[in-house]
Amino acid sequence: MDFEHLPQYELLQHHPISDIRSEGYLLRHKKSGARILLLANDDNNKVFNIAFRTIPKDSTGVAHITEHTVLCGSREFPLKDPFVELVKGSLNTFLNAMTYPDKTMYPVASCNDQDFKNLMHVYLDAVFYPNIYQHEEIFRQEGWHYELESADGELTYNGVVYNEMKGAFSSPEDVLEREIMNSLFPDTIYGVESGGDPVYIPDLTYEAFLDFHRTYYHPSNSYIYLYGNMDMEERLQWLDQHYLSHFDVIPVDSEIALQKPFEQPHRISCTYPVSE
Ligand SMILES: [Zn+2]
Repeated sequence: MDFEHLPQYELLQHHPISDIRSEGYLLRHKKSGARILLLANDDNNKVFNIAFRTIPKDSTGVAHITEHTVLCGSREFPLKDPFVELVKGSLNTFLNAMTYPDKTMYPVASCNDQDFKNLMHVYLDAVFYPNIYQHEEIFRQEGWHYELESADGELTYNGVVYNEMKGAFSSPEDVLEREIMNSLFPDTIYGVESGGDPVYIPDLTYEAFLDFHRTYYHPSNSYIYLYGNMDMEERLQWLDQHYLSHFDVIPVDSEIALQKPFEQPHRISCTYPVSE
C-alpha cells in the first residue's frame, strides 16, 4: 500500500503477517487521534469494526444502554431502528454490537462492495452522531422507564436492556461467571456489571447517560479496523472526509487500573436462582 496520497494519516507500523496472508498496517489519524488497523489481503469477506474503550464506574449498565441506543437512529439515518433494517435488508455476513466490561465494539462484514460501504456508513454515523441527544425516548425505550398498566395497577420498570439483564441475572452460569470476575477484581472496572444490574439500572439518569457517550465515543478513544480485499486508500479518504476530520484530538481518560493482589485467599458464597 502507498500512503503518499494519505497525508491525514501517520503510518506507525507495517508488518507482513504471513499466517493469514495479510499485510498489516497500524495508522494514526493525525487530526482526531483515531487508531486504525488495516489487514489487507485477498479475502472477499470484508470486515469493518469500530471499538471504544468504555469504562463503567457503576452497575447501571450505561455502556450496554449506550450500545443499544446509538443504533436507534442517527443524523444521516434518522429512522427508528436502522440495526433491524440492516439485519433484514443487507447482504451482511456479520452484523452485531457487543458490550464488554472494558470496551464496546461495532463489527460488520460483507462480501459485496457496495453493501460493505453502506454498513460502514450506517455504523460510523450511529456511533458519532446518534439521535440520543434529540430524543430522550430512545434512552427510555432501551434503558429503563416506568410502566403503569392501569390507574390502580402496580408501577413497574421496563426497558430493552433492563429486561435483557433480568434474563442474564437469572441464569446460574451467568451469575457464577459474574461473581467470579467481580470478586477477583473488586477495586477495578471488572468489579462492576457493565451490562447493568437490574437493581441499579433505574439509577441511571438521562444526563449521566449522555455524558458517557460524550466522553468515550470520540475518535481519540477509538480503534478502527479494516480487513479484506478492498480499496483501502479510498476507504481511508472517505473515513477522513466524512467523519474523522470533523474531530480534534482530545485526551480521554479511559485507563484501567490494576487490582492490588490479595494478602490472603478469600472465600465467597452467593446464591443463584433455580427452578421448582
Ligand atoms: Zn443488549
